Amino acid sequence: MAKRKPLIAGNWKMYKTGPQAGELTGRLKSLVSDVVDVDVMVAPPFTVLGVVAEILKGSGIYLGGQNLFWEAEGAYTGEISAPMLKAVGCTYVIIGHSERRQYFGETNASVNRKIRAALVGGLIPVVCIGESEAERELGQTFSVVQEQLEEGLEGLISDDVQKLGIAYEPVWAIGTGKTATTDQAQEVHEFIRGRMGTVYGNSVANAVRILYGGSVKPENIGDLITMADIDGALVGGASLNADSFAAIVRSCVDSVTDKA
Ligand code: PEP
Repeated sequence: MAKRKPLIAGNWKMYKTGPQAGELTGRLKSLVSDVVDVDVMVAPPFTVLGVVAEILKGSGIYLGGQNLFWEAEGAYTGEISAPMLKAVGCTYVIIGHSERRQYFGETNASVNRKIRAALVGGLIPVVCIGESEAERELGQTFSVVQEQLEEGLEGLISDDVQKLGIAYEPVWAIGTGKTATTDQAQEVHEFIRGRMGTVYGNSVANAVRILYGGSVKPENIGDLITMADIDGALVGGASLNADSFAAIVRSCVDSVTDKA
């Protein structure tokens, strides 16, 4: 069967003030607005979502949040809700990024609550999972990923699960310049899809987009995207430069259209 439509998502993390975000978005818009074979999304910091949303109008590039809180509103100083992200123009939201798990105490249980809130709020969650270097060395990659997946998605119904994006991001490859080999990545993606099939059925497993994340660059996306279970990428560092992010998108388009 045909592979899923790829998604290339840029996670800007805690970078870019308003003018910088405006410049990056404007350039990106001029470089990839015509792309239709690949979905493109950027997730800027909360403070510039409005600026970026305004520039993206009419471009087909999707907007995403980097995080959310599970309540819709209330006395939760410093937090942002799903309806707030939706209102500013977000379609997607990244949930459970390893930096959130590592530095802000996010757990599979909090990830679960956030996924539910995102779905209720009409956002598409991109749920991040992945093992640390130590876990990989101990041979625990599959068990860690399985636990993150099953606890993170606990209690969700199939109709909701098939809307999700899953981002497999080996922690040892994030921001380190070390990329998993295509075989290492494909092996885990295949495992994730297999688990989805076992728990939710094959049609859900075949619908879910599984992105790879970890030092994705214009030079390596072409090989990654040709793997059977790799449906795109979550890109950190290389998404901060419009030319490199656009080159990743273009390389992905070339691979997809070559195979069509
Ligand atoms: C990320 O932030 O999810 C990420 C994969 O970062 P980088 O591309 O810089 O490794």
